[in-house]
Amino acid sequence: MARTLPWDPRALWVVEQLDRAGYDAALVGGCVRDALLSLPPHDYDAATSALPEQVEALFADTPRFATGSRYGTITVVAGGLPVEVTTFRREGDYSDHRRPDRVEFTSRLEDDLARRDFTINAMAWRPGGLVDRFGGRADLERRLVRCVGDPDRRFEEDALRTLRGLRLAAQLDFALEEDTAAALRRHLPQLSHVARERVCAEFLRLICSPGAGRVLLDFPGGAVQALPELGPAVGFDQRNPHHLYDVYTHSVKTLEGVSPSPALRLAALLHDVGKPSTFTLDGSGVGHFYGHDRAGVPLADRALEGLRVDRATRERAVLLIARHHLPVEDSRKWAGRWARRLGTRALLELLELKGADGAACGTPDGGQRALLDRARAQVLALEAEGACLTLRELAVDGRDALAAGLSGPAVGVALNALLDRVAQGELNNDREALLRELDHFQEGM
Ligand code: ATP
Ligand code: MG
Repeated sequence: MARTLPWDPRALWVVEQLDRAGYDAALVGGCVRDALLSLPPHDYDAATSALPEQVEALFADTPRFATGSRYGTITVVAGGLPVEVTTFRREGDYSDHRRPDRVEFTSRLEDDLARRDFTINAMAWRPGGLVDRFGGRADLERRLVRCVGDPDRRFEEDALRTLRGLRLAAQLDFALEEDTAAALRRHLPQLSHVARERVCAEFLRLICSPGAGRVLLDFPGGAVQALPELGPAVGFDQRNPHHLYDVYTHSVKTLEGVSPSPALRLAALLHDVGKPSTFTLDGSGVGHFYGHDRAGVPLADRALEGLRVDRATRERAVLLIARHHLPVEDSRKWAGRWARRLGTRALLELLELKGADGAACGTPDGGQRALLDRARAQVLALEAEGACLTLRELAVDGRDALAAGLSGPAVGVALNALLDRVAQGELNNDREALLRELDHFQEGM
């Protein structure tokens, strides 16, 4: 079966070139795992006994560049396909839970496979066939993520592996093998030693994966390590008849209900982060969270900044959280007003978040879903007509308003008023006409 794996011929060519030149060489890691699962590989990694300078010499006529110079990886671009070629290596001791103290080259593929994190990631494809020293193939069949070797030791060496394990389980919809899961829980706190950028990359992949909800519910510690502000939400009883679940469980269920884009999923996970600090009990013992949407904004912002999420994603997520209680109306006017304020895409995401939020309460929704669907149809209709203007698309701008003699806050007031009138069809988005209106504005002030 392994002979018929659907390799990209260009990746195979790189390995065969090395093989023909007398080096040991193999495709390794994620691409072997994905090929055995008949999934398209994310990227191609090759490992070889050839030293970096020998790889350079062999591929002298092929476009290539040095990556990860510290470890001597050379990316060979074969017919447009980048293949990362790394010399077999063995790692020394780890003393800081994140990086080996030294890395040494070795001539044995087996040593290189032994340093890899999980059995399903520790297989190799040599031109002669599959190399599977740690039972990766059997674990693929059992749909299990299992450490290579002693799990406590492997997580102790590099704590990022805890999050990688969760990410892989969510991405492939696999379970974590029992001993691996137990050790992973013990070592999650050591993620604090790992660079936040690496944590961020794995965490975003985790939350955008198909199995994210199940993994986040089984391992709340993973989410709390990435976003410590979520800590108080875990197990927080809402004491409210509209809410069947604790705040964290409800948040994860909301995440499962939105599309897998980082901003939406982060917003879903953090939308109620303001609840624990705004909790009050009324006279009949019912819990309330007045103003939690606003209270959540600084907490979410800090959490996302701390995770080093890129700015555009952070701002979008925070906007969605801030507005997640926006009252929705089924009218063209409502759709137009909010599309102009937030932009069409953000407004559609907000409606999606609100729908998932309602569905994740575990109680009847009182017709909210149907209302959200109608509001969405209004936004889509405006968009289809090209009527969802934003200030940026208006045919006049701030400079025109200044030239017309307006100043200070009057500039924004005038432009927004024109935008509303254009959106409602009273005026065309025509520069000459709008300039005349700006002049009237001036006279009217
Ligand atoms: P994908 O490319 O689909 O994200 P991958 O398994 O290829 O998954 P990469 O981050 O590209 O993930 O890593 C390539 C390979 O390097 C892995 O399959 C694994 O064998 C090894 N690896 C990566 N990170 C670690 C680590 N922290 N500890 C041990 N081995 C690792
Ligand atoms: Mg990879």
